[in-house]
Amino acid sequence: MPIADPTAAELEQLQDEAVRLTQELIRIDTSNFGGNDPETWGKGETEAADHVVAQLREVGLEPEVYESAPGRPTVVVTLPGEDRERGGLIIHGHLDVVPARAEDWSVDPFGGEIRDGMLYGRGAVDMKDMVGMMLALVRHIARTGATPPRDLRLIFFADEENGSVWGAKWLVAEHPELFEGYTEAISEVGGYSITLPEQATGEDVRAYLVQTAEKGYAWGRLRATGRAGHGSVPNDENAIVRLARAITAIDEHEFPIEYVASVRALFDGVTEITGTAWDEEDVDAFLPLLGGARQFVTGTLRDSANITQLDAGYKVNVIPQTAEAGFDVRYLPGHLDEVLDLLRELAGEHVEVVIDNLGVDTDAPREGALYDAMAAALQAEDPGSKVLPYCLSAGTDNKPLTQLGIAGYGFTPLQLPADLDFAPLFHGIDERVPVDAIRFGARVLLRLVRDC
Ligand SMILES: [Zn+2]
Repeated sequence: MPIADPTAAELEQLQDEAVRLTQELIRIDTSNFGGNDPETWGKGETEAADHVVAQLREVGLEPEVYESAPGRPTVVVTLPGEDRERGGLIIHGHLDVVPARAEDWSVDPFGGEIRDGMLYGRGAVDMKDMVGMMLALVRHIARTGATPPRDLRLIFFADEENGSVWGAKWLVAEHPELFEGYTEAISEVGGYSITLPEQATGEDVRAYLVQTAEKGYAWGRLRATGRAGHGSVPNDENAIVRLARAITAIDEHEFPIEYVASVRALFDGVTEITGTAWDEEDVDAFLPLLGGARQFVTGTLRDSANITQLDAGYKVNVIPQTAEAGFDVRYLPGHLDEVLDLLRELAGEHVEVVIDNLGVDTDAPREGALYDAMAAALQAEDPGSKVLPYCLSAGTDNKPLTQLGIAGYGFTPLQLPADLDFAPLFHGIDERVPVDAIRFGARVLLRLVRDC
């Protein structure tokens, strides 16, 4: 039986559950401090995964748990589709969150408190809101005994907030069979609204930004080598000095603005709606139009390289043999090779560029059946709204899936108030999400899986 229009009671339950589950997940502290030491890990991800498994089993679904390391579970559940020959759709979310310093917040970051229609807590937008919606969605489908049009696989990953090492990257490497036959994926940081002044009507109109592309990242170290020696002896091969020169050269490099295709598509779309042209030579005046997405978009105008760590020396009167600095490079789709070549050139001959963790860029089609279905689902729930593609400055678990040829989109539908500055809420203080936005998202996702 295909997915039918829900009754009023079913729709109410779907939306209530999405909010309840988001709240319950926020109350499980899944802070990711990096690394994989069980001592610092705590039990958060396991507790959250257990909760997900229980919610799925309660409606008769049969999830499987894949543990990359003790305390690092990823949950997978599959709903076979009517047409099993078609490529399947993966909907994925991560259960971990970045840590929160409670003293900085106006509420308990793990309290899941609702105030003035906003649900507060670490993970409210990144991304326990989507995980709550995903769970509510499949619980609804299972309760009604319906079958989606094509195979649907939900994955709840560990470890996204530390480069996906023990989550998506591990699963893709160790269990590639789980992704066979799946052609597309949706996940976080896209599908939310900004509000634009529409030229044609003179009114404000919501535009939903579907994330079709992501910058890539290269996390690594500059490793300078020199000649060790006594602190009293002149030394013109000092590893620390060589490292300092490399750091300065990289920091002083100005990456030029380049408008990649997904950024142009967004800007052209905004221009079409608002009538405000954008100027390649001076885009600053245009950016405020992007409202809550401004920070994410600003990060997609150029490549970047930031020095983030330093490690050198062990005694004040000893010149060390080596010195290291950590870096965080973010590159636009297609720029990996040229950015790494540039980094090596700037680092100089005595400083090696070591890459420890690479997150590939993504660039999925900005058209096609799934893109159209996402747009139609949004516009059915918010008539008159617009849908535009955009490139995300940060990374998501779509990266490892992209390496298997799966087209990944950011699609966590949220109808947001015009004045909510959305991007800074990610990893921010007082992270929060409108309760009504979660309810909206649950309805949109149901339409999407029904019609995809
Ligand atoms: Zn996230």
